[in-house]
Amino acid sequence: MEDFCALFNNRRGMIKPLLLNQRFIAGLGNIYVDEALFQARLHPQRKADTLAADELSRLHESIRDVLRAAIKDQGTTVSDYVRPDGSKGRHQNSLLVSGRAGEACLRCGATIERLVVGGRGTYICPRCQEIRSPSGQRGTAGGVRR
Ligand SMILES: [Zn+2]
Repeated sequence: MEDFCALFNNRRGMIKPLLLNQRFIAGLGNIYVDEALFQARLHPQRKADTLAADELSRLHESIRDVLRAAIKDQGTTVSDYVRPDGSKGRHQNSLLVSGRAGEACLRCGATIERLVVGGRGTYICPRCQEIRSPSGQRGTAGGVRR
């Protein structure tokens, strides 16, 4: 956990592109990052160095949960994804936000939105994942106040 927190220190970028950086945390794909951020209730455009300790701890836990669930379900099926044997994974059925733009959030009922963050399609619940930092820092959450 300390190692995990250290990864975010002095990182000024948005958390989603940071999580997708393969040198940062290997093996975390686009869909899994969206799911983990939703579970942790963190907006993908939050700046990494604005995350509070409790938020980092939620994120850490969510990433572990999402990866564990994905492994259990043998991979996520999206468009062209198939396992080496040609069969499709089953994880798509347990995705909470990915690919669900326009549908109701399973947690709060708000409408899931699609954004583009760091050039990647990104799904969020705008109510569960507010961009505002709880510490009240303004102007640090990229894209909102420009
Ligand atoms: Zn929600």
